[in-house]
Amino acid sequence: MTQQHDQNQTLFERARHVIPGGVNSPVRAFKAVGGTPRFIKRAQGAYFWDANDQKYIDYIGSWGPMILGHGHPAVVEAVQKAVLDGFSFGAPTEREVELAEAILARVPSMDMVRLVSSGTEAAMSAIRLARGATGRNKLIKFEGCYHGHADALLVKAGSGLATFGNPTSAGVPPEVVQHTLVLEYNHVAQLEEAFALHGKDIACLMIEPIAGNMNFVRASVPFMKRCRELCTEHGALLVFDEVMTGFRVALGGAQSVYARALPGFEPDMTVMGKVIGGGMPLAAFGAKRAVMEHLAPMGAVYQAGTLSGNPVATACGLATLQQISQPGFYDALARKTRQLVSGLQAAADAQGLPFCGDSEGGMFGFFLMPELPQNYPKVMTTNGPRFNQLFHGLLDRGVYIAPALYEAGFVSAAHTDADIEQTIGAATEVFRLMGAA
Ligand SMILES: *Cc1c(COP(=O)(O)O)cnc(C)c1O
Repeated sequence: MTQQHDQNQTLFERARHVIPGGVNSPVRAFKAVGGTPRFIKRAQGAYFWDANDQKYIDYIGSWGPMILGHGHPAVVEAVQKAVLDGFSFGAPTEREVELAEAILARVPSMDMVRLVSSGTEAAMSAIRLARGATGRNKLIKFEGCYHGHADALLVKAGSGLATFGNPTSAGVPPEVVQHTLVLEYNHVAQLEEAFALHGKDIACLMIEPIAGNMNFVRASVPFMKRCRELCTEHGALLVFDEVMTGFRVALGGAQSVYARALPGFEPDMTVMGKVIGGGMPLAAFGAKRAVMEHLAPMGAVYQAGTLSGNPVATACGLATLQQISQPGFYDALARKTRQLVSGLQAAADAQGLPFCGDSEGGMFGFFLMPELPQNYPKVMTTNGPRFNQLFHGLLDRGVYIAPALYEAGFVSAAHTDADIEQTIGAATEVFRLMGAA
């Protein structure tokens, strides 16, 4: 396509005049992989079409929410009906109660939830609540885990365990992150040391149980077990950030996956988003009643939102939850996702390229290295230029994966076996070119 007729390029140039970097969320700009971001015109099922009417198999699914694929008829109908009754009231509605009940019925570690509009807002509010409920200030997070862009969470490790974090963004004063301790993921000894030093001051430990913001890295079962034990021992709250994994890896979220290996396992608080809104702005945080009762208007921890529990978003979320609760839904999704990862593995193996992958439910990740990394520094040893070659090779062949090597991928119920086969076929061609190079 000539530059002149590339509508994506035209739109990108227009966008850059009026929106910083041309995008409303940085990763969309293709900065890591280079090239022109695709401006999406419409989507249906497992596909979307860009401004040039080029079709792609979509493995981002809006970064997770579109677990049913785009434009699922039952969801579209629920949203259309809701819109006719009004967009927003600023007063409570029955549908919020229904959605809260539906979430709690599927995630038994929570007795109550509060609905908000984004994962960032949910994680930020969860931390305030953990601090308010415990009367402590300090929190633990892990390098490579993303919990949205609240100030206290935009932080990287300090120079040692006795020192707290440094901001990762301009505009975040060091004082704001001085209570955030950043540890290495899956590092049991470091975790134990941190609790030994600071245990009585720690309000909460926040973790992505299966990290999807450093590609795909599981917390090991022994590591998760120690997180649970140390939080209990020191009176800190274990907060699961399931914004990505909630209703994505299983109906009960990643916590249900860990409970299989660790009977009775539960986090103290859960943060959710993405799938619970089905593509609309909706997120939530929840915990046991005793913790949630600290929240205003019951308790002293303030939290509010003009559009919280929005009637259109809750309709979309509820319709999505109903669909994914059908028997066998996750088995089929997991099977398809595994089929994709093992097909990619075989295609890479055939060319002698280093490759490894993993998946849980409808979430997957792969690395151009021989072994699955266990932490962020290892993830970052991935060969960037090779990943970019793969990304663009797939994109040119109508397969859209995340435009950065530190992002997870998502399969939806709308992806067919033929879509998976076509994807593996495209990858085989690209791997062949990479192997020859
Ligand atoms: C996406 C994500 C967030 C942030 O959610 P937004 O809706 O983008 O604010 C927080 N935590 C995790 C684990 C996420 O994947």
